[in-house]
Amino acid sequence: MRMNSGKWKEEGGRRILCCRHLSFHFPLSSFLFFLTSYLLLLSSCEAEAPISRTYVCRFVFSYKDHSTSLLFAAAQNPGTYVYVTTKGDGKNSVRHVYVNSNDGKTPQEDNIISTDLENYSSYVLGASNSIGLFIGTTNFNGLWAYDRACPNCSNLQAMNWTGNRQQVICPRCQRTYELETGAIISGDEGSSLMRYYCSFDGSILRAWN
Ligand SMILES: [Zn+2]
Repeated sequence: MRMNSGKWKEEGGRRILCCRHLSFHFPLSSFLFFLTSYLLLLSSCEAEAPISRTYVCRFVFSYKDHSTSLLFAAAQNPGTYVYVTTKGDGKNSVRHVYVNSNDGKTPQEDNIISTDLENYSSYVLGASNSIGLFIGTTNFNGLWAYDRACPNCSNLQAMNWTGNRQQVICPRCQRTYELETGAIISGDEGSSLMRYYCSFDGSILRAWN
């Protein structure tokens, strides 16, 4: 913010900022209030990673056909995450969507995709269908999907749960990321997790960018 176009003056016991290019005066306390608000707004915007466009992300999952899936528990319970992978094309081979819980003990869930709705949809899970997406509900920032590939390793490197299992670690570069914001919390500086939109309307869960 440029300050060299104005100067402070005493007026009626208050400090007033006089700007040559502005036709009004305002007191120092108001100026500091707006400056603080502006900086807080900037810092809150920076807390969340932007939507990644590096890879295409397209994923749909029907509640009606998979109502007991761990994915829907993760979509509705803050602090609960899964990662999903997929294989098969739904045409020449049966498509599977595999769901892995962050609880560290539930076996991998195997969902067979058999409805037209899902088989006609494209499944492009970001960097790699075999590496997949982290999907879950953060405590304060809603439902999100993240690419499970490390954003800082040039070859596609799948990450795994670590810490309280609301964090993930790259086995190659050893960076640790938190799923609440996607930010690096341990290791060298670098890019935040590749984030994708995610929504669940009670019928269909979608992830996209
Ligand atoms: Zn890495």
